Amino acid sequence: MADLAFFGGKIVPISEAKISVKTHALHYGTSAFEGIRVNWRDDEKKFYIFQLEEHFKRLLRSCNILRMDLPYTIDQMCKISIELVQRCGHEEDIYIRPLAYKSTEAVGVKLHDLDCDLTMFVIPFGPYIDLEKGIKCGTSSWRKINGDQMPNQAKIAGPYINHALSKTQAIGNGFDEAILLTQKGYVSEGSGENIFIVKDGQIITPPPSDNILVGITRNSVMELAKNEFGLDTIERSIDFSELYVADECFMTGTAAHVAPVIEIDRRAVGDGSIGPITKKLQKLYFDVEQGRNEKYMHWCTAVTPKK
Ligand code: PMP
Repeated sequence: MADLAFFGGKIVPISEAKISVKTHALHYGTSAFEGIRVNWRDDEKKFYIFQLEEHFKRLLRSCNILRMDLPYTIDQMCKISIELVQRCGHEEDIYIRPLAYKSTEAVGVKLHDLDCDLTMFVIPFGPYIDLEKGIKCGTSSWRKINGDQMPNQAKIAGPYINHALSKTQAIGNGFDEAILLTQKGYVSEGSGENIFIVKDGQIITPPPSDNILVGITRNSVMELAKNEFGLDTIERSIDFSELYVADECFMTGTAAHVAPVIEIDRRAVGDGSIGPITKKLQKLYFDVEQGRNEKYMHWCTAVTPKK
């Protein structure tokens, strides 16, 4: 198996992809990253990368916020990803992790006048959370950071401490995932997922102004719900207590796919089983991301492994 990474401008064995302890990003969280799903199809012996370009578009937006002028175009980063997938040697679901980081070896809190670099590697990545049974969530006492304290519209390393605190708290309390609320007490998102509720047949999700990361899965699922089931998603603030009276709830994310939420704060969601809208969206999404739906093939990049 070839354990490879893109590092220092080329593909190298991962053992050579090392940074100095003095690297700025390590000290101040000055990096931006993505997580990209790559679904293995054993029937075709092929990988399907989901929404590859969209992830690099978001990475460049994150870099802009961090004042990083990354010397790679979206097209170049897509090509590097494809090569890593082709050469990875795995025959299972994997995950691409691109990381753009402030590479200067310097101490000092700032964003300006620092070099940046890009690294990328792939790892095997099975189910992140239980999609069959549904998950149990707990609302976090860690509130989601406001957009005027940290940029939420970007996938930047530092702010993930907010999410890591909430996830570890949730697991410690016996839940599978955390739900973070905004400073005003509205529902924001999970530690690594966007959240949706279904009430009286209507799909509702928090707007970007409630400090969410605008997920690529979120946008894809909203488009699928509209195109395939004629269901518009309402983007509006969700009161915390609305979670307790929702008919259905699900989370979306590259890692989580479409994950049904069956319990919140030890209260059953609906009748405590996976709801019908969640179920059909989950199935459709799986088919689409695995390249089984012709209509959405443009969201997928098929990759044949290189022997
Ligand atoms: N919110 C947060 C905080 C996340 O980390 C993620 C995962 N990237 C998401 C939402 C979902 O985003 P996406 O669907 O693009 O993976």
